[in-house]
Amino acid sequence: GVAESEAAAPSPPQMPHFDHTPLPYTGPSSQEILEKRKQFLNPAIFLYYKKPINIVEGKMQYLYDETGRRYLDAFGGIVTVSCGHCHPEIVDAIVHQTKILQHTTTIYLHHAVADYAEALASKMPGNLKVVYLVNSGSEANDMALMMARLYTGSFDIVALRNAYHGLSAATMGAAGLHTWKHGVAQGFGVHHALNPNPYRGVHGSDGKLYAEDVADLISSATPGKVAGFIAETIQGAGGAVELAPGYLPAVYEHVRNAGGVCIADEVQTGFGRTGSHYWGFETQGVIPDIVTMAKGIGNGLPLAAVVTTPEIASTLTKCLHFNTFGGNPVCSAGGHAVIKVIDKERRQENCAVVGGHLLERLRQLQEKHPIIGDVRGKGLMIGVELVTDRGTKVPAKAETAEVLEKMKDLGVLAGKGGLHGNVFRIKPPMCFTKQDADYLVDVLDYSLAML
Ligand code: PLP
Repeated sequence: GVAESEAAAPSPPQMPHFDHTPLPYTGPSSQEILEKRKQFLNPAIFLYYKKPINIVEGKMQYLYDETGRRYLDAFGGIVTVSCGHCHPEIVDAIVHQTKILQHTTTIYLHHAVADYAEALASKMPGNLKVVYLVNSGSEANDMALMMARLYTGSFDIVALRNAYHGLSAATMGAAGLHTWKHGVAQGFGVHHALNPNPYRGVHGSDGKLYAEDVADLISSATPGKVAGFIAETIQGAGGAVELAPGYLPAVYEHVRNAGGVCIADEVQTGFGRTGSHYWGFETQGVIPDIVTMAKGIGNGLPLAAVVTTPEIASTLTKCLHFNTFGGNPVCSAGGHAVIKVIDKERRQENCAVVGGHLLERLRQLQEKHPIIGDVRGKGLMIGVELVTDRGTKVPAKAETAEVLEKMKDLGVLAGKGGLHGNVFRIKPPMCFTKQDADYLVDVLDYSLAML
């Protein structure tokens, strides 16, 4: 019965890593917020939980609802809170800059913007040295696609099935997830290659075979010349899908042979999250021509960037190119603080250590629960895919939603995604500890057992 199972529920980490008492809440009730939301907010956004939660405060890897109840956050505002909620050094940098000068535009000089661009460029390999600051991942990818087309003089773009790149007309066209396309995406000139998904893809883990599909696609369905290729190094919205080993080096060669440039969408995988490397593309040993980044870049600020080579950047000087908020001093100061915190607190290393531990424990859980079809990922970018039958791999969509709700009731917030909505996405703030990881796994174990 309920009382029995609740008695057996895992208990949260006993020793919080800091003392934090949330402020008393004086705002409207959840019901009132829900009513306003129904009336005035975008009706396409779905609420995660049947019993929605009202999150009013955050501290590092924890969130608090209006009753002061604490939740372990394993989703970080969709992979965006990289360093931790309200990280004190990042808050200080933002507040400091806000008090001095909140906004001009890049038509004037500002040291915070120049210093930040320098710091970001110093994190890039090769000749990736020119930074464009923008406001969202969609805008960054939109710009990258435009740059590829301007630079090469070609139009065709190769993207992946199961990819997500944003919601502007062009990036929605590049997405390979029908669940995000509304049927009106402007995908003219975009060709979707086979998804090199080791778990579900037709060629298993053979990255080279999937790459040959791209070569065939280019020679059969384009003029033989392409503008470029765009891919996430681990697909995010698609369900934390790692690209088969060897895929990117082989594809990059085919694409460059066809005159195209290679775009890495690092919106979810950048800034050390994969643990082994600072950028996701480095896990496959390639250097792209254009890199886009957002989400974790600002720890929650509306900030994004495109970084490319001086040669590609020079294509964009023929016309004016400018956006109002890109290079905003407050976002630049905050973004710069994020880079410093990741280095100072060795967050990349933490992703490797805690992510490795989490993956190991999740793989043990897979042995116990047949519903877990696949456990995958790198560092703190992890997917757990639920299937009703391991042989047929039928997605266990309803079960995923049920377990997600149960975990929330026990105090753990995970993400879900994938084309079939059957993948848990575990991508917490990078300050997640082993203790947090253990608690998450215990809660998942318990919730799966309750199905
Ligand atoms: N690219 C990837 C890999 C993403 O996950 C997202 C957002 O989820 C985007 C691009 C779009 O970013 P934004 O929502 O900031 O426009």
